[in-house]
Amino acid sequence: MFADMVVLSVCPGCGSDLLQPLGWEQHADGEVLVELRCPECYAWVQISHTQAEMRALDRLHASFRDELRCAYEARVAENMEALADSLRDAFERDLLGPDDFAPRLSDRRRVRPDQQERRKAA
Ligand SMILES: [Zn+2]
Repeated sequence: MFADMVVLSVCPGCGSDLLQPLGWEQHADGEVLVELRCPECYAWVQISHTQAEMRALDRLHASFRDELRCAYEARVAENMEALADSLRDAFERDLLGPDDFAPRLSDRRRVRPDQQERRKAA
């Protein structure tokens, strides 16, 4: 589905502002034909932009990337804190011992001791 887009970054099908650039093609007159996809309604849009509009679109996408990166880092930090809380809880309940941190038998089989010596020498 291809449609003209009135607003630079809003999907004409559903109004989503999450349009993703898939490709572009530079034209001789300086305009750039951009192909965008909407991740929410799966519409595909082709629109011609001036160089100034392309810079604005690039800045907009950069701000979205920053927003995504911040959200990702916040989720990673939350998950790490949850894992640390679980580990602390397991230690407090005396559920873990040294054997829990020893290499598993299946891990030891993967690399034989003579192979480990060869790896160290290399
Ligand atoms: Zn859409």
